Amino acid sequence: MSPEVKPDFLISPEGLRLDGRRPDELRPIELKVGVLKQADGSASIKQGKTYIIAAAYGPRELHPKHLTLNDRAYLRVVYRMATFSVPDRKRPAPSRREREISMVIANALKPSLFLEEFPRTVVDVFIQVIQADGGTRCAAINAASLALADAGIPMRCLVPSVAVGKADGVLIVDLGDEEDKYGEGDVPMAILPTTNDITLLQQDGSFTREDLMEAMQSGLQACKYIHELQKDALKRAFGSRSPDDGGGDDDFDDDLETDLGESEIAGEDE
Ligand code: UDP
Repeated sequence: MSPEVKPDFLISPEGLRLDGRRPDELRPIELKVGVLKQADGSASIKQGKTYIIAAAYGPRELHPKHLTLNDRAYLRVVYRMATFSVPDRKRPAPSRREREISMVIANALKPSLFLEEFPRTVVDVFIQVIQADGGTRCAAINAASLALADAGIPMRCLVPSVAVGKADGVLIVDLGDEEDKYGEGDVPMAILPTTNDITLLQQDGSFTREDLMEAMQSGLQACKYIHELQKDALKRAFGSRSPDDGGGDDDFDDDLETDLGESEIAGEDE
């Protein structure tokens, strides 16, 4: 495979991005709920070329026992990238980056969940990145929140997430991989749409205070739009599924769930 070449520009003279999007335009997003037979809840997301599957289990008995929390369920999130999900084969061993992303996803989702209703149990979320083209942590949150809803975990609201950033001095929404790599910076964020509470806010690159505020405003609007898509996906799933069939696309390859060991576990920040 030929090495990736840095593009001459990220915003064309016409003001469009590499994939032809306007600066404030999101990639096409396709959300599906109930894509795995074995999971208590599941969802997939295609956001541009980024493709992710999330599976939720629980509340269930927690192993190992020493992780038990007496006043709430433990939310255990495992984010993993398939070896074939990126242009250079990703090493199969869990990386520092995957551990960090597992932790920030858990922290982004936790405020939406009534974990205190299930003390001494675990709610597991396994996230598998099938294809990565930027924005995987945000897309993972969008899918994971739906998987948790599908599993019937009581929640205040769904959690939508998007990255905003800057390329060639222009504020852009929902960064693709090249924008992520070669742009001036990005700010992944997630919100609770019912209260506008921010549950994820990271920053890579430098922004002026004004740019950051403007970027966050755009991110907020984009999250609200994604929230509508999430609700539509849930309605589609529950409108078309009978309660006892377990749901699911029969043709999904269950093997994608394998290899999610305990070593890359994240979930509690204490
Ligand atoms: N990426 C990659 N190889 C890796 C990790 C990441 O090619 O081992 C790419 C992938 O497309 C990812 C992007 O770099 O989406 C940006 O990664 P980052 O850590 O910023 O997380 P993300 O934006 O996906 O949440």
